[in-house]
Amino acid sequence: MGRTEGSPFQRYLEGLHAELKGLNKGQVADYIPELAKAAPSNFGISFATIDGEVYSVGDSGIEFSIQSVSKPFAYGGALSRLGTEALLTKVGVEPTGEAFNSIVLDQVNNRPFNPMVNAGAIAVAALAEGDTPEERVAGMRRLFSRFAGRELAVDEAVHRSEAETGHRNRAIAYLMLNSGMIDRPPEEVLDLYFQQCALRVTTEDLALMGAVLANGGVNPRTGDRVLGAAEVRDVLTLMMTCGMYDYAGEWSYEVGLPAKSGVSGGILAILPGQLSVAIWSPPLDTIGNSVRGIEACRQISRDFGLHLFMNAASVEDVVRRVASARDQHSMRIRNPRDRDILLEVGHRIAIVELQGTLYFASAERMIRRFDALPDETRYLLLDFRRLTSIDPAARRFFSDFLRRKCAEGVEIIFAEVPGHRAEVCAALEGLVAEHDLTAIETFDAALEDCEERLLADLRQPFDFTSFSLNKISLFSTLDHSELAVVETLIHPVAYSEGETIVRRGDEGDILFVVARGTVSVWVEDQRGSRFRVGSMGPGQFFGEMAALGGGRRSADVVADESVVCYALRSVEIEDLGQTHPQIMTKVLRSLAQEFGVRLRQANALVSALK
Ligand code: GLN
Repeated sequence: MGRTEGSPFQRYLEGLHAELKGLNKGQVADYIPELAKAAPSNFGISFATIDGEVYSVGDSGIEFSIQSVSKPFAYGGALSRLGTEALLTKVGVEPTGEAFNSIVLDQVNNRPFNPMVNAGAIAVAALAEGDTPEERVAGMRRLFSRFAGRELAVDEAVHRSEAETGHRNRAIAYLMLNSGMIDRPPEEVLDLYFQQCALRVTTEDLALMGAVLANGGVNPRTGDRVLGAAEVRDVLTLMMTCGMYDYAGEWSYEVGLPAKSGVSGGILAILPGQLSVAIWSPPLDTIGNSVRGIEACRQISRDFGLHLFMNAASVEDVVRRVASARDQHSMRIRNPRDRDILLEVGHRIAIVELQGTLYFASAERMIRRFDALPDETRYLLLDFRRLTSIDPAARRFFSDFLRRKCAEGVEIIFAEVPGHRAEVCAALEGLVAEHDLTAIETFDAALEDCEERLLADLRQPFDFTSFSLNKISLFSTLDHSELAVVETLIHPVAYSEGETIVRRGDEGDILFVVARGTVSVWVEDQRGSRFRVGSMGPGQFFGEMAALGGGRRSADVVADESVVCYALRSVEIEDLGQTHPQIMTKVLRSLAQEFGVRLRQANALVSALK
């Protein structure tokens, strides 16, 4: 069973195909004798999405010659090599309102009206790259194969048939030679053009080629950037205004998608940013467009409201979530005093999670949301993990906003910059450098950093010299004489930055209390990536699970800086249970309390992640 079988898209295509199969109007083109052999009943449709999924129905696997559907791709290739300005001197961008094979040139500039009609496409072929005719043909095939994501071959019979009979195109080429628009031997230029038109494709190929255009120039299957975004825009514009020849006006009015048709019965329509549709059905109307192809596009556009002006997307909200450090805490395990401070003033840290695409209008809305944050906001923590793109207009407004906020003294922290999205990543890194912002890889570390900075402003500095055991929550309920007993069991140990204090999987028989510095807790997921799940500072303890419960260490604990810990051996703790059961009871009660706090924190996190 095919992957797409049963999918609603597939079922829709099947219904459409069944309905239009019975539409028996039009004539198969016969001015190229080889084309006249096509069976009028051939009919295939394919959809391709911008991530390379293809849905097909009917004769979608049968090859036919691409003909004029090749024109936008050849033009795109020339654009990317020569640039708009140079290309405009050779071929214009005005619709003709005339047939595809009309022999008229723009009288003012002497150039063909546009590259979607034969004259313009022949002028583009005359600009092909390569030193010899063979190299130029090879270059053309290479370009088309990159669009299709597979090696495309020339149908020799169709090529020969058109070379023998294509006198009208010959006339066009000589006319352009006369007006200086082509400067290579016309026969050779025509041969390249005829081979280009004779490339064999299926609707699946065409749909995938169209998906490259829908996807901003990148082949979704191979990841190959075939055209730049600006070139894609130019190609789609010409498809919109000129792609359907003298039917272009009515087509734009009714279907409203950039498209291109060819005399072998192919039509390719693009919905930018979403998908492409390719149809093949040889019988043509009098203008030279596939009858079933036109009807299929009309219906698809109508059924799904795909007309581009219908689709003028409403602005999406890129702000997924706004919270503050009151609602959400880092994984750092904190003493009650710091917890209280954060509950009281956590609203000075604003947390904003962004999603989707930042462009002109969505950036405007995002900045309005930022400006509505409370005046007390001192730290703005931005989580970018779900941001998929940022265009130049959005970047510009964002940059202005950041400049203003920095001047107001707000600290801006970027977290989770998506490294796998090269363009977003480059834009954000540019902003960080431009405004000297802080960028922190993980959200949790960034939140902890904000909390630390806020706490540093507010709490009394921790005085290590007067650090006493009763500052440790485990022992806070012990009286003087009890503390004195515990003191005899304690061994101070120093660690340098980066040193592993506890290793996952090791036998654990020591409970640690942090006396100075901070330590981080790291775990590994199934794929072997390491995650920092928490951190602890003075007064907090770790290693209690293995030390008191027996068994092995469940995580790594690493010193973040130079650290001093107090170590308590489990055998000694056990002895304590024998000799001073009342101390043991108090310690266990504090331990249970601390577990309660940690559990509540974990629960809050789990519900925040839902
Ligand atoms: N090769 C064909 C020609 O030049 C292409 C025309 C078309 O598909 N409309 O006549």
